[in-house]
Amino acid sequence: MGIHTEYSCSECGMKLVDSSDIFWVDAEKKIHVDMQTVSSSRKATDSLASGGIYKYYCYNCNNYIYNFHITRKSRFITKEEIIQLIESLDDNHKIIDFDNRFQNCIHCRQEISLRQEKSFAIDEMGEFFIDDSLYSEDFENKKFDFSGKYYGYFCPDCGKQINKFVILENDANLDDSLIKEILQDHTNDLTVYINDSYSNCPICGDELQVLGESSICPKCNVGVLHIESQQLID
Ligand SMILES: [Zn+2]
Ligand SMILES: [Zn+2]
Ligand SMILES: [Zn+2]
Repeated sequence: MGIHTEYSCSECGMKLVDSSDIFWVDAEKKIHVDMQTVSSSRKATDSLASGGIYKYYCYNCNNYIYNFHITRKSRFITKEEIIQLIESLDDNHKIIDFDNRFQNCIHCRQEISLRQEKSFAIDEMGEFFIDDSLYSEDFENKKFDFSGKYYGYFCPDCGKQINKFVILENDANLDDSLIKEILQDHTNDLTVYINDSYSNCPICGDELQVLGESSICPKCNVGVLHIESQQLID
């Protein structure tokens, strides 16, 4: 189900349309972009590759940035082909990234499949929690220094386990090296570590924002955005 929202600025009247869009690459290696609906989601599931499109705005250089986040990929298409198709789609500024569940072996570089996906967190006392879901008893009503996702892989050719820790929330504002050190204390086989808790503008490096209700108007920089209408589409 897709959400189509129209915003307008309280001061200058600027209108902004936002919808939840997805993309997919069909069997002929053509790329399609559409709102997320039942029928488009079905096409995406049957495609060679698919994912979501997230729209960001940079207040520093005044550009819209489109994040193409690939969540599915078959073995009949390479990562490079997918990136090329997305890049040649239009002239918009883009960030193209693959979901954290994708991983290449750090020894032989081949793509390896995900075996385990769990949530993890470190609380204020330095205790380490790992579980299938953040809604388990362990994670209830706790304040964490940082938390994220754990992904476990195994490369059959090298016979090696690959562990990946992705930081999604860093409430204690710890720096990367300290987080890595803490994780290393709790796992003797830390192999990949990614800090995913912020995204920056690919043009100027400033922090990207998601425009929505109460955002400062990108046109006049004075008014704020209000929802004019919202529609659910399936
Ligand atoms: Zn305005
Ligand atoms: Zn390998
Ligand atoms: Zn920028």
